[in-house]
Parts: sequence; C-alpha cells; structure tokens
Amino acid sequence: MPKSALIIGAGLGGLLCGRLLSRKGWDVTLLEADEKPGGVLKSFLWEGIPCECGFHSVGGLGPGEALEKIFRPLGLMELPWYKADADEGFPFLRLNAATEEEIRHITGPYTQSTWRLKGGGSTLVEELTKGLKINTGNKVVKIENQSVTCQNERSFKADVTVSSLSPDLTFSLLQDHVRPAYLKRLARMEKGPSIFTVHCLLEPDCVPWQSGDIFLDGQLMLHFGEPGTHLLELLCFGRGRAEEMIARAKTRLPGLVVRKYHTLTSAGYGYIKHSRADYIAPATPLPWLFLTGQNLGLHGILGTAVSALNTCKCIES
Ligand SMILES: Cc1cc2nc3c(=O)[nH]c(=O)nc-3n(C[C@H](O)[C@H](O)[C@H](O)COP(=O)(O)OP(=O)(O)OC[C@H]3O[C@@H](n4cnc5c(N)ncnc54)[C@H](O)[C@@H]3O)c2cc1C
Repeated sequence: MPKSALIIGAGLGGLLCGRLLSRKGWDVTLLEADEKPGGVLKSFLWEGIPCECGFHSVGGLGPGEALEKIFRPLGLMELPWYKADADEGFPFLRLNAATEEEIRHITGPYTQSTWRLKGGGSTLVEELTKGLKINTGNKVVKIENQSVTCQNERSFKADVTVSSLSPDLTFSLLQDHVRPAYLKRLARMEKGPSIFTVHCLLEPDCVPWQSGDIFLDGQLMLHFGEPGTHLLELLCFGRGRAEEMIARAKTRLPGLVVRKYHTLTSAGYGYIKHSRADYIAPATPLPWLFLTGQNLGLHGILGTAVSALNTCKCIES
C-alpha cells in the first residue's frame, strides 16, 4: 500500500508538493477551497486578454541556477520560459537583519536571471495539475487527529497532512493540542501587506513593449503583459490609487495612453522575514502534520519551490 498524503491548498506550494510526493509513489489528494486550483498563480481573462493575479517573472532558471535545479527533474523546464531583460533590482525588498552578502544571495537570481513564461501563471498551473487528484470547492474548516473536514462536511484521512495555508490559519483549524510556546512564536509573526494591481489596457503601440520590470522610486512596479496584448500592470504594496499610479507611470513612459483600467488587491507575500529567526520549519510538533508554502522561508515562485522541496524531504526522512 502506498503511503497517503492530504495537501491543503492547491496553490504553487501545494501543487509542487503534490508532484514531488506522487513521483515518489505517494497517494496524494489535494483539497482546494476555490473552484479552480492555482492560488495566487491563477490568471483571468479581461476583454479576452490574459491578466495575472500574482505572477510576472521568476529568477534562477538559467542552467545550474537554483530554480532550474528544482524545476528540471519535475519536467517544468519544458514549459515555454523565455529570458527577459534584467530587472532594475528589487528595491521593495526590506531585510533589516540581512548582511549585504545575504541580500545579494537572495536578489541575485532575480536581478541577474529574469525569466517570463508564455501564457503566464496558468501555464505553470495547468502543467502542475496534470495527474493530481484535486478536490476543488473543498474549504478545510477542521484538522483533527490525522483527519481533515471541509465546509461541505466531507472528511479525509491520510498518513500525513501538508498544509500550504499560512501557519496561523493552519493552527486555528487544528483541534489537537500543541505546545503553547510553538503557537506563541507563530502568533508573533508579522503578515506582509497586500499587493494592489492596476491592469491597464493601452492604446496600441503608444509606448514600446519591454520584457523586464521597471521600478519607480522603490514603490511602483511596471510590468508589460505579453507582446501584442497592449496590457500594462502597475503594482504597489498596500493601498494604491489607480489614477495616481497611472500619472506616475507616465513620468517614466511618456506617450502612455490608458484606454481603460481595472484594479485588483491580492494577498501579499506571506510573513515578513526580518531575519533567519523568522524561518518556519516544515515539521510541526505533530508527527503527521507538515507545513509548506510562501510563509515558511522566502516567498515567490523560487522561495515557495524551495519550501516545497524542504517539506517533502522532511516528510520522507
Ligand atoms: C500581486 C502578486 C504578484 C506576484 N508576482 C510574483 C512574481 O512575479 N514572481 C514570483 O516569483 N512571485 C510572485 N508573487 C508571489 C507568488 O505568486 C507566491 O509567493 C506564490 O504563488 C505563493 O504560493 P502558495 O502556494 O504559498 O500560496 P497561495 O497561492 O496563496 O495558495 C494557497 C491556496 O490555498 C487555498 N486555500 C486557502 N484557504 C483554504 C482552506 N481553508 N481550505 C482549502 N484551501 C484553502 C487558496 O485558495 C490557494 O489556492 C506574486 C504575488 C502577488 C500577490
């Protein structure tokens, strides 16, 4: 009998754990609250144009680089990745306790090796969902004694449960006893701000398309949609004002003409990491419950992939 695993959440973290474990022969079931898998990586169509909720570019996909080493054995390097011009750096990044060397180590894969994916986040999600048992519309409301209950009253049981939800949410659903010191540490973690996106439909060819992201004053990020879509995304942390952001974008891209726009607020990058002390281990005090997702170590595609790998190694050890 293969060992069985329940994975809560079918965003990038849950899907990667699903692929890693099923390739090792585990019987894997994913439970996803939403009607579609993908989490922040879902894209949607607006006026027939694919728009992203939480994917623009990734770092570290060059030969021998960190993400390439994780993605190649998983068959994800076959996807239509293409290299973008170097980003202008990540001025958003605030790492109070990090040394210069640590910052270079973290930002290097992004600033020196920036990649985009044809079709965006949904291309990655489509590939990752292949062959996985995903129960969508199953919002987990209780975790207890190795079983998981959903809002629709369905229950699931497996040898191990992996939660890709934020650890504070995971433990708020857990009924089993966990030592208070562990929970106190989690309660002290600080959540990152949300991300405000303005999707702008441009007058065709009003400004030249660029593959790399543009950062303005460390606060506003500009990202063009795929060539030919005439889409420009403007992003900032926390609350933004669309008209103001468009006016600021015009200072960098004179000639910019926005035909229409709409706005979207997405969950941010997970817990803020001030220092190494904010790292959360995949193992929990309960031997059958494991954590994964962007809250554990670094966020983003690279950070979430590293966490998925760590989680699955921890489960198998
Ligand atoms: C606007 C934005 C732009 C971004 N741009 C980039 C980028 O360009 N490059 C990059 O590398 N990273 C980017 N990121 C970050 C990256 O998308 C995330 O770090 C990563 O996708 C997080 O994956 P996750 O699986 O940890 O979380 P999520 O994607 O949030 O997945 C969690 C899943 O759990 C489900 N869920 C929640 N509650 C329950 C429940 N009770 N029961 C069952 N399921 C539940 C959710 O519906 C979701 O599907 C961006 C993020 C945002 C918000």
